[in-house]
Formats: sequence, structure tokens, C-alpha cells
Amino acid sequence: MEINKLVRKNILNLKPYSSARSEFKGEGSVFLDANESPFDNDYNRYPDPLQYAVKERISAIKNVDKDSIFLGNGSDEAIDLLFRIFCNPAKDNVVAIAPTYGMYEVCADINDVEYRSVNLDDNFDIDINAILKAADDNTKIIFLCSPNNPTGNLLNRDKILSLIKSFNGIVVVDEAYIDFAPQESFIQQIPRYNNLVVLQTFSKAWGQASVRLGMAYSSIEIISYFNKVKYPYNINILTQRHILEVLNSKDGILDQTKEILKQKEILIKELEGLEIVKKIYPSNANFLLVKTDNANQIYDYLVGKGIIVRNRSKITLCNDCLRITIGQNEENAKLIEELTKFSKK
Ligand SMILES: *Cc1c(COP(=O)(O)O)cnc(C)c1O
Repeated sequence: MEINKLVRKNILNLKPYSSARSEFKGEGSVFLDANESPFDNDYNRYPDPLQYAVKERISAIKNVDKDSIFLGNGSDEAIDLLFRIFCNPAKDNVVAIAPTYGMYEVCADINDVEYRSVNLDDNFDIDINAILKAADDNTKIIFLCSPNNPTGNLLNRDKILSLIKSFNGIVVVDEAYIDFAPQESFIQQIPRYNNLVVLQTFSKAWGQASVRLGMAYSSIEIISYFNKVKYPYNINILTQRHILEVLNSKDGILDQTKEILKQKEILIKELEGLEIVKKIYPSNANFLLVKTDNANQIYDYLVGKGIIVRNRSKITLCNDCLRITIGQNEENAKLIEELTKFSKK
């Protein structure tokens, strides 16, 4: 696909800001180029604008080309940049599924880009024809999320692939929860499809939500547009150093992921035994979408007991649903204890 044709003209022609650290790369001993303080306190120098060391580690772990990686202030930065690179305000549009992650629509609104949503089917899967029908010549991006938030399920892999092949624009697959899913990531498809963007994050399985670090993986061409538009030093040195340590302790993360999946099975069994639970949707993530007989009442009751879940009952197709994140054993047990008491009221 000719990506250039999808990029906004002003971005195509943009002369990006050139920082001191990007103009000179290499060995030096006296740095008088960036108006920094000369007094060494560990933080007086600007950080690497392209986070080379972090990308090198991620590239090895994920088996992707380091030039196919963008790092942002959470996945949210990558989502916003996609709008700024591809979508002309007040002219272009994007297509997404419903229900799904709320940030795609918020970013569309901020960028004055029309957001078209297509409901998932009865199994919370995508309807390719409906999605393609919602798109027109001004549709630049299709947003998919797999495993999807708040439904929890993986979208059908073959359907995603056929959308990537048939849509004449960018297809984003948000894989924030892929580490919990029994399926291969789409990042291995990046060398095959230059219009594919895969989003991942350190916020969920990696346990680093407060650090704010997300990845976008894509063709080298698309990543070069991300780098052109991003703030010059978007990832600070504290984050870069910290995440290198996290990447080096990934075995611990794998154990935690396994434990969460084990706790999920226990929680499902317990929830199934409660009369107030009408349905537990299949989940490939670290949360459960649960249909109840009265989500608002249950939500308020739990808040009164200091237990906070997410009330999703006002969301498309999620009538009377609560979204419950899998906690530690004792936390899940406390939830079940209170839900049991509520059932008996
Ligand atoms: C939690 C979540 C993210 C993570 O966003 P960050 O900005 O990286 O914390 C991204 N996408 C989805 C669908 C999520 O649920």
C-alpha cells in the first residue's frame, strides 16, 4: 500500500524539529551543544530521543526490527499520533467497533475527526462487511482491539487478517491484553502488511501502569512518521532506565501472568455459583465482563464495602454488565464474599 497517499499533506511536508541530541550521534567528551547544565547529577543531559537501548531490548524479546518500534507516553500517545498523522480534521473519519476502548473516540473528538462505530455481533466478534460498509474514501483508520476491552474476547484472527488485506487504509490492532491470551501477537505480520499498526503497553501484564509506556509496532515507513510528529524527547530518562530493568526481569512477569490466569479460573467458578450472575462472557484478558440482574445496585453495594469494579451497564451491548479486573487471591475472595452477602439480601 502507498502509505504516503494516506498521510496528511502538512505532515508529509513537515520539517521536523531537529534536537541537539539527534543532530549529533556518537562519541564525544565535551558536550556544549544543548544548553544543558554542565554539572553532573545523573539527569542534567537530555535523554536519547529515539530510546535506542530500550528498543534494542524490546526488539530482541519481541523479535521485531527496532525501526518498527515507536515508544510513547502510554498507548494513548500512539493513538493520538495516528490521528495527527493520517486524519485531516473536519474531513476524514475513522471506523471502530462498539463496544471498545474509549480513547479512540476521545482522540477522534479532540482532533475533530468523525468517529464511526460498528456494533460487534452476538459473540462480540467483528462483522467485516459491516465495517467495510461503514468506511468510505475519507476513512483513514480502522481501530480493532483484541482481546477487546470491555468484552474480554479475542476477535477472530482470520477476519482481522482479511480486513488488513482488503481495507485501503491503516488497520490498528490494539493488543493491550495480548500477554493474557492464548494467541500469537499480530506483530509478526508487520513485515507482510505495511498498513498494520499493533499497539501494546507496559500498563497491564507488565505491571507498569504508573510508568506510562506504550509501544506501537508498524512498518518502518509508518514508524518514521511517528518519529517525525512526536515531541522530541517524549520518553524521559527515568522511564528509559526503569523499563530496561523491567525488561531484564521478565520471568517474574510471566509468573504473575500465570497466577492471574489461575485466579481468573477460580473467580469464574465462584461467580457461576451466584444467582445474581446471569452470564460471564468468555475472556482472554485479565478481567471478566459479567452480566448481572442489576449492575447499578451491585456496583453501589460493592462501593459501600470498599470494593471498586467498573460499571459498564451504560455501554453499547453491555446492559447490566460489570467489568471485574482479576486481583490477588484475597481480593477476589473478598469480592465473592460480598457478592454472596448481596445475593442473600
Ligand atoms: C489499558 C488499555 C490500554 C493501555 O493504555 P496505556 O496508555 O498504555 O496505559 C490500551 N488499550 C486498551 C484497549 C486498554 O484497555
